[in-house]
Amino acid sequence: MISIKSEREIELLAIAGNVVYQTHQYLKPFVKAGITTLELDKLAEDFIRSKGCTPSFLGYEGFPNTLCTSINSEVVHGIPDNRKLKNGDIISIDIGACYKGYHGDSAWTYAVGEISEDAKYIMEHTEKSLFVGLNEIKPGKRIGDIGAAIEEYAKKYKLGVVRELVGHGVGTTVHEEPDVPNYGTRGTGPILKEGMVIAVEPMLTLGSPEIVILDNDWTIETEDYSLSAHFEHTIAVTKDGYRILTGPLEGGDNGKE
Ligand code: MG
Ligand code: MG
Repeated sequence: MISIKSEREIELLAIAGNVVYQTHQYLKPFVKAGITTLELDKLAEDFIRSKGCTPSFLGYEGFPNTLCTSINSEVVHGIPDNRKLKNGDIISIDIGACYKGYHGDSAWTYAVGEISEDAKYIMEHTEKSLFVGLNEIKPGKRIGDIGAAIEEYAKKYKLGVVRELVGHGVGTTVHEEPDVPNYGTRGTGPILKEGMVIAVEPMLTLGSPEIVILDNDWTIETEDYSLSAHFEHTIAVTKDGYRILTGPLEGGDNGKE
């Protein structure tokens, strides 16, 4: 069943989402050549806890860390370790935070130093595809409209759409109904209603959309080692559109802006 959140619940989801946003802003200056993904993980965990939240992914189905850190051809679910970021890498950082039982979930891909034109291309168009998908959202539209818009955009720019991984509902668990695929057919799927909260998260590739799971049973990588990017926001469906929950909080504490 797809849950409809009350106003009070949406405010709690917005606080969690805002802490996720703040964590991204906090980490950004540290995303440089020489830092390890485990160091980023520690910074993120301390930051999330300092805001009165807990990391959503730590311990989720046994995931060992706060962040998912996926470098270059890694798509999602990379486990932080002692690898150092190098100039020219791109890194997708996925963050979840839980406030009073309610979650926020947002991923962003970052450039490490000077990156290639290919890397800029996949980052730019994956981010744009997220907003193309979000722009479909309002009551009465359907989940399939979001995926269709993202898929059409990706096709236009000759990018692969990873099909095995999808967006999802967000609430008192970080993954709940409905699935929100990054492909689809307009006019199909569940109808969007005011109060639904979903994470939209295109994962696009420069080459083949086929993926493999690495030996650690978590990290997902493109089969052909082509670059991949991942951009995600958690949003609430509103009366006439949507509200990004994993962004700045109006009148709130948004960290050091
Ligand atoms: Mg995520
Ligand atoms: Mg997600």
